Amino acid sequence: MRTHTSLHALSGIVYTHFDAKVTGGNMGDDGTARMDFELDHISTDFGQEVEGLLNDALAAGHDVHVLFLPRDEALADPDLIRTKANLIPAEVDPIRVIDIEGVDKQADGGTHVRTTLEVGTVHVIKTESKGRANKRMRIQLD
Ligand SMILES: [Zn+2]
Repeated sequence: MRTHTSLHALSGIVYTHFDAKVTGGNMGDDGTARMDFELDHISTDFGQEVEGLLNDALAAGHDVHVLFLPRDEALADPDLIRTKANLIPAEVDPIRVIDIEGVDKQADGGTHVRTTLEVGTVHVIKTESKGRANKRMRIQLD
């Protein structure tokens, strides 16, 4: 749940600060996780920069809310458009949304911690290019 919640925060941070959407991601069974971003270029200190921004946001103690939004309302929300809520099957209404206050908001059915304080510290252990407009980041929680 901590790792999963950290991925939500990571996607919000990279979108807010680097204007990049998530193209994929998953969690390993070794306590690491990866996330891919639609980015053409990253600087050598991209990983460090994201790590700093992410840990600052987590340490600020944002509440994690579970919302159930009417489908029409959800699909009109810019954050939920960004995270492709429109791909959720048409019969799903209301749509379950995870809102990390001020950090990230996306449709999701998973379980999460209640505040970003519970996530602890995240380390960016690797960044790599997986081609044009696709950069991969691997993280590990303390
Ligand atoms: Zn989630």
